[in-house]
Amino acid sequence: MIILKKELFVQIKTQCIKEFPNEACGILAGRDARIERVYEMTNVDKSPASYFMDAKEQLRVMKEIRNLGLEMLGIYHSHVASAAYPSAHDVEMAFYPDVSYIIISLKNRNNPSAKSFRIIDGEISEEELKIE
Ligand SMILES: [Zn+2]
Repeated sequence: MIILKKELFVQIKTQCIKEFPNEACGILAGRDARIERVYEMTNVDKSPASYFMDAKEQLRVMKEIRNLGLEMLGIYHSHVASAAYPSAHDVEMAFYPDVSYIIISLKNRNNPSAKSFRIIDGEISEEELKIE
């Protein structure tokens, strides 16, 4: 299970709508399955079908997370027209077995939905995403 504060979810949804029609992405940091910080990242793919985080930006953010004594708990991105489920490309690009992969679907742009997954060795399993 992973826990996301409502105001952080609002921040993520706002970013996803702002980046539309391209996918938005970012990093989630916290501890004990509780997300405390959202880092909005640049999608260098600038694509409606994929995302790739800027490597320099990612290194800087991961360093900051460590310096704060937090952990990288998750990576999120949006799906602009499809369901909140990892694509074959998402699975291929899932390099971190210890993080949650959260996908925000903008299929209904007035009411974006989100789901969280673990992706380990190409195997997708959904986990509970608690927004509170
Ligand atoms: Zn995706």
